[in-house]
Amino acid sequence: MKTEKSGFNSKLIHGGDFHDSLGSAVTPIYQTSTFSFKNADHGARCFSGEDDGYIYTRLGNPTIEDLEKTVAELENGFGGIATSSGMAAVNTVYLGFLGAGEHIISHNAVYGPSRVVMETLYPKFNVESSFVDATDINNVINAIRPNTKLIYLETPANPTIGISDIKAISKIAHEKGIPVCVDNTFCSPYLQKPLDLGADIVLHSMTKFINGHADIVAGMIVTKTEEQYKMLRSVMMNVGCNMDPHQAFLTRRGLKTLAIRIDRAQENAIKVADYLEQHPKVEWVKYPGLKSHPQYELAKMQMSGPGAMISFEVKGGLKAGKTVMDNVQMALLAVSLGGIETLIQHPASMTHSKIPQEKKLEAGITGGLVRLSIGIEDVDDIINDLKQALDKV
Ligand SMILES: *Cc1c(COP(=O)(O)O)cnc(C)c1O
Repeated sequence: MKTEKSGFNSKLIHGGDFHDSLGSAVTPIYQTSTFSFKNADHGARCFSGEDDGYIYTRLGNPTIEDLEKTVAELENGFGGIATSSGMAAVNTVYLGFLGAGEHIISHNAVYGPSRVVMETLYPKFNVESSFVDATDINNVINAIRPNTKLIYLETPANPTIGISDIKAISKIAHEKGIPVCVDNTFCSPYLQKPLDLGADIVLHSMTKFINGHADIVAGMIVTKTEEQYKMLRSVMMNVGCNMDPHQAFLTRRGLKTLAIRIDRAQENAIKVADYLEQHPKVEWVKYPGLKSHPQYELAKMQMSGPGAMISFEVKGGLKAGKTVMDNVQMALLAVSLGGIETLIQHPASMTHSKIPQEKKLEAGITGGLVRLSIGIEDVDDIINDLKQALDKV
């Protein structure tokens, strides 16, 4: 008899409910591009949708579907759409919701390419955008226009760790008939469930916490309704930004330990944030678990834990920021986040370097800003590593 899998960890392990006639304990990799039909009628029924048989991997594949079902369950959504990367998920949502003469409102400190693509590529199709500080809901309200077709949030945002109120913004958006999408990469469904808070769409770079082992690039979209699922799935299938079965297999494997990885990384991050906050060479620390965080109360309400992402400002600007980067020994100097290893990066010269200087400052991306993705190593080693690097400033 199957047991009920109502708890989060049970869903991580058993979600997707894949079974085959051989009794495989894990979902196998169906590394095939196409699936043969039993006969012409069966082929016709698969195409018409009367039969849910597989047709072609860009349209659907059992390994990928298992992952889609699992993440959709974790986010309490209708269905999941796996994509080749997080940016493929972002662009699928942009393409699905926005057309010529329409407008998107987004946070001014979202993931670099999520903003860059909107400001450089989409104007070719006459899509307008407003990037505002969405941590203040009034900025979002003031940016709404009659042609606004999507509010796109990322919370906590990258790299400033600013937090936007998903519930309050969704309420206002829905009064005007505008859907809300949340990039939930920094939290994963373990720490935040945007659909439960009122958002319509949630997306992930599964490259980060969901896979968690820094060995693949992958994305996922989860919708609340069947209608939006069908619309976005069709965009993904026709654009061709589908996931590969092997990528799905690795992601599904990484996902099983999501909660225990985040618990450990978060426990470490709380100690690292406390350490940095009292360090004389640190101007400020942004971490949702610190009382000094401007949206500390909101974070407590909409997230079930403060997570493993910390940003801090080293006294001495760009030069000091670079000194820390050049002197850490254990932390890897690398972009990306959410893996088991501690990573350190410098947004001003790396992830957000393509954003013009005045827009960077407006979004709070200063020269001395250093971003940490805390891993699951021994916390004393992480702190000692930062200590000796800060000593060199
Ligand atoms: C990494 C990241 C993305 C893009 O994902 P890729 O998998 O690199 O394409 C989008 N949003 C956030 C918040 C990210 O951290």
